[in-house]
Amino acid sequence: MAKYCVSTPGVPHITFDTEAEAEKFLKWATRSDEKASSQSSIKKVFASGVVVDKRLTAAFQKLRKIGYTALENHWCCARCGWSAISDEQADKAVFYHSQDYDQFMELRCGFLVWSGNGQEICDTIVEAGLRVEWDGSVATRILVFL
Ligand SMILES: [Zn+2]
Repeated sequence: MAKYCVSTPGVPHITFDTEAEAEKFLKWATRSDEKASSQSSIKKVFASGVVVDKRLTAAFQKLRKIGYTALENHWCCARCGWSAISDEQADKAVFYHSQDYDQFMELRCGFLVWSGNGQEICDTIVEAGLRVEWDGSVATRILVFL
C-alpha cells in the first residue's frame, strides 16, 4: 500500500493516504509562499511490500527472531520511520526508508537506520550473504552492499 508524503520547508514530513489529500494539504501549507511551494514535493512512499533484495529480507526475518523490530521500506525518512516505532521497539530496531530504497535500487548499496547491537546486526546481515561496512560507532548508519 502506498502513502503520499508531503515534504515542504520548515514542516516535518506529513503523510496522506491519497495523492489528492496530499495535494490539498500542500496547497494550503504553501498558499502564500511561492518559494516554499517550489521547494515542496509529494513523494509516493510504500508502507510495506516492496523490498530490496531477498537476502536482506532473510536477514531482517532473522533479526526479528532475535528481538529486533526490522522493517523494510519503512516510511519516507529516518524521522518519520522512528516516529512510527513505539518506545519499547526503539531499543532494538533496524529499518531502511523509501529514500534508502531508491539508493539501493540505483547504487546497489544503501544505509540502515538502527538501534541495539550494531555488531549483532552486521553479523546477521553478513550471514545472509551480504557485505556490510560499519565503523563500530552508534552514530554511524550501517552500509549494506547487495
Ligand atoms: Zn518523512
